[in-house]
Amino acid sequence: MESGSKVTPGDIERSYQEKMIKEKLSNIGRKILVMSGKGGVGKSTIASYLALSLADKGYKVGLLDVDLHGPSIPRMLNVKGGFEMPEKDIIKPYAFSENLKIVSVEMLLDDKDTAIIWRGPLKIGAINQFIGDLDWGTLDYLVIDSPPGTGDEPLTVAQTITDAEAIIITTPQEVSLSDVRKSINFCRQVKINMIGLIENMSEYVCPHCGGKSAIFGTGGGAKMAAQMDIPFLGTIPIDPKVVELADQGRLDTMLGQTDNVINNVFDVIINKITT
Ligand code: ADP
Ligand code: MG
Repeated sequence: MESGSKVTPGDIERSYQEKMIKEKLSNIGRKILVMSGKGGVGKSTIASYLALSLADKGYKVGLLDVDLHGPSIPRMLNVKGGFEMPEKDIIKPYAFSENLKIVSVEMLLDDKDTAIIWRGPLKIGAINQFIGDLDWGTLDYLVIDSPPGTGDEPLTVAQTITDAEAIIITTPQEVSLSDVRKSINFCRQVKINMIGLIENMSEYVCPHCGGKSAIFGTGGGAKMAAQMDIPFLGTIPIDPKVVELADQGRLDTMLGQTDNVINNVFDVIINKITT
């Protein structure tokens, strides 16, 4: 606002929202934006599993789905409820467990199969409201799942949450890797610290013989991370159980399985993130 110009109700509302956002963010430790260049590389799956694993280790975690066109987290975790309103003017995220709170735009929709048409400013408003208007409480981690690419959603997160950090997901194929370069350059441009790169669906472990096949290739993620000079966090294999459990809305039930390769990989990834 220029000095001397009239203060409008819009200015007051904006400055109030900025104050609320600042206040809410000051109660949240680390804010992790999960990004990818391409869709379908497992971003939402990894964002969910990251949040579940951190919560399982005792951290207080929030999971925010800002994929406004294709929210998928409620389906993977069978989130049937909506926001909770214990008192007037207090809106709480959905409490998935003692340590994990979830917010997704899908929780606002009556019909989950309806496509919503969002224009840029609406998206920015919705994301800012998800942060400023909700009672997240004190969190150690806020994990944010964004749509693929470098559009309005990651940009809004970067502008609103100035200390957000990014984890970038890729598959080993060349097409996915070339898109990842754009995500990395975006983070550099908006000055988001990159925690690192994860290669997903890197090889298939046969549940019968234990043999491995690299369906989409393997090793490209580590090479790309070295080339672009960002940390490499790990390689997650293709596991049909992931598809099955995510489709059934029971991704969380994978957590306790001790013989699961993905859990072992996540232990290493979580270790790199939290230390
Ligand atoms: P994105 O959010 O990047 O579009 P999703 O997380 O929705 O991708 O994953 C796309 C599909 O791939 C889903 O059906 C999911 O269950 C499956 N998937 C993701 N990661 C793995 C994995 N490591 N092994 C097997 N299936 C996976
Ligand atoms: Mg997704």
